[in-house]
Amino acid sequence: MLLVHHDDYLAHNPGAFHPERRARLEAAITALKERGLWELCTVLSPEMCTRDDLLTCHVPELVDLIERLSLQGGAIDMDTPVPTGTHAIACRAVGGGLLAAREAVKRDEPTFALLRPPGHHSERARACGFCYYNNVAIAAQRLLDGGLQRVLVLDIDCHHGNGTQDIFYSSPDVFYISLHQDPRTLFPGSGFTHETGRGDGVGFTANVPLPPGAGDADFSWAFDTVFGKVYGSFRPDAVLVSVGLDAHINDPLTSLEVTIPTYRHITRELVRRTRKLAFFLEGGYDLGAMGNGVAAIVAECLDKHEDDTEDPAQASPGPRVKETVEELLEQLD
Ligand SMILES: [Zn+2]
Repeated sequence: MLLVHHDDYLAHNPGAFHPERRARLEAAITALKERGLWELCTVLSPEMCTRDDLLTCHVPELVDLIERLSLQGGAIDMDTPVPTGTHAIACRAVGGGLLAAREAVKRDEPTFALLRPPGHHSERARACGFCYYNNVAIAAQRLLDGGLQRVLVLDIDCHHGNGTQDIFYSSPDVFYISLHQDPRTLFPGSGFTHETGRGDGVGFTANVPLPPGAGDADFSWAFDTVFGKVYGSFRPDAVLVSVGLDAHINDPLTSLEVTIPTYRHITRELVRRTRKLAFFLEGGYDLGAMGNGVAAIVAECLDKHEDDTEDPAQASPGPRVKETVEELLEQLD
């Protein structure tokens, strides 16, 4: 197992009262160290990405804007301040994602990029939602540029990854699957089942909106059903995972009720299928859930099964979730 880390990721400070704070990443690192997992991994230190890397997924105007605001500090919107130096740190996050994806493929070894700032809300021409550049999208595009045919991006953050969807909406080479809280009840307001792609990309986006209160059985069953079907038919060369821990029941910003066994279950199912697998840290605002969730994912990748709680996929999902998934599968057929 590989980890990607750089001290720059701790330096990003969007403000004293901003939920996307350095303590999140510190909680993840502390949990890995306390459980002896950090020492079992190889830790890689990334370079900054280049402007050309950014331009594979973003328009030059967005890069210019973030670069300019980063000189003296500014803001893109209320949620997304641009403190001094943001551009360089965000380039280091993109660079970390590029390194994670490349090494996972080259070494056939799961990799976790412990990134800040996150990226999945960042669209081709617009940044928002605590995100500046889209780490996972740029990594997926660079894998394709390097010769891979098909990349699957799985997004299990509680918010819909509108940015990643936007960037690959017309592409049949990247399949985007997102499980998230019902967009009628949470930022960014997109991610309905009928959003399945555009042009050549139709049928290569799968959105699974889950009602507030959905828990382990719902999330795990929806993941198994949709990911299993897509993985079998799309046969990706690599899987990149946008992992937010904010679907957790303790998260202060969201209303899903997932617990740690679900993250374990999903990781087991991923590793069972491929080791060309890279995790990208996105959201997650409860420090306990962040530490326990990241540690659980890394432990499963290392084949360390710490608890013997019942696999949540054994329980039945609620009727609304079943209905949503059936509706989605009809759209994809
Ligand atoms: Zn989120």
